[in-house]
Amino acid sequence: MIHLRGVTTLENEVVDLSLPSTEERSLDAHGLTLLPALIDPHVHFRTPGLEHKENWETAARAAIQGGITTVFDMPNTIPPTITLERVLAKEALIDQQLHHVKIPLHYGLYLGADKNHFDEIARCKRHVLAIKVFMGSSTGDLVMDDEPSLHTVFQLAAQHDLLVAVHAEDEAMIQERKKLFQHEVHPRLHSQIRNDEVALKATQLAIELARLYKTRLYLLHIGTKKEVAAIKKAKEEGVAVFAETTPHHLFLTTEAYETLGTKVQMNPPIRSKEDVQALWEALADGTIDTIGSDHAPHTLAEKAQAYGKAPSGIPGVETTLPLLLNACNQKRLSLAMIVSLMRTKILDIFRLSENNDYVLVDMHKKKTLADHQLKTKCGWSPYSGMTLQGWPVMTLLGGTLYELN
Ligand SMILES: [Zn+2]
Repeated sequence: MIHLRGVTTLENEVVDLSLPSTEERSLDAHGLTLLPALIDPHVHFRTPGLEHKENWETAARAAIQGGITTVFDMPNTIPPTITLERVLAKEALIDQQLHHVKIPLHYGLYLGADKNHFDEIARCKRHVLAIKVFMGSSTGDLVMDDEPSLHTVFQLAAQHDLLVAVHAEDEAMIQERKKLFQHEVHPRLHSQIRNDEVALKATQLAIELARLYKTRLYLLHIGTKKEVAAIKKAKEEGVAVFAETTPHHLFLTTEAYETLGTKVQMNPPIRSKEDVQALWEALADGTIDTIGSDHAPHTLAEKAQAYGKAPSGIPGVETTLPLLLNACNQKRLSLAMIVSLMRTKILDIFRLSENNDYVLVDMHKKKTLADHQLKTKCGWSPYSGMTLQGWPVMTLLGGTLYELN
């Protein structure tokens, strides 16, 4: 057991309590607040095939550093996770890497929807958390941009009672809009090509398919005011739709291109101040259900290429909680909301059971984020240089206490 003396609870009471552990230890926890450990429902840990960007040894350390003990990993690897055999092979690789660093991180996998492998949905249903559909292109080539295939996936998912997680950007509109900007090269074009109408069109189609087939729908990385309004309306009409946003959509705006360039290029892209404002309101009124980091690391060399060549995606698994705790200190949200957005609602939506993992946070600790301290293999963060108040200091995973730096 780990005995905590004078720890602050979520209800803001100072108590002594004991947590289940393999070790016998007593800690003075005055000034620290105990939260249940968080879940990151959206990560790209890049295994197999892209391990030069990330692997589960470095990523597990990064997750623990960010108070996260459960992650859901995306299928756009090389090869993509689109069959039962690939799901099982990926699990074996992950288990091996986690065993190597002795971090028994909890994880779940998404099955990539692929029009040549519809049968895999039934085969994989007990092995995966949800089906991932890329309506717009991103890293990898898992795009499903034709309506008949989308109908089939939503129908099969409903039939097998599986959640469909959607990257909602309209691929035809992206290709059309690229032509409008083909004579310019600047990362800020990214948000203009993939504008809010591109996101809205795909989001609306996904909602209509969920309504039609009574499919449970999880909309990944929602970033615009227009989508928030569409989701709010669908929820009021009883469609089983859940929405995720990301730290970069909450903490960055299109102004970041001017200082950070392609480092802040991701899909869907960062948005206007007005969109960011709408997202914060949607967190408060419950239209947005969850926050996922969309941890999608690339090397600095890959990101140093010009716009058009540089890949989309940014790291985020270890910086999400510090950013949210800092926002909590600024009274932009509460600790209870963080727990709801990054644990309770995720357990409900993905139908998972509770675990006994915890994170201790120090709401007074101030630290400046620096690249060299990061655990992610890519070794950089768009937030480096920012001084944040509120940091995780210890994570308890599977009965083992990890002290953080
Ligand atoms: Zn993603």
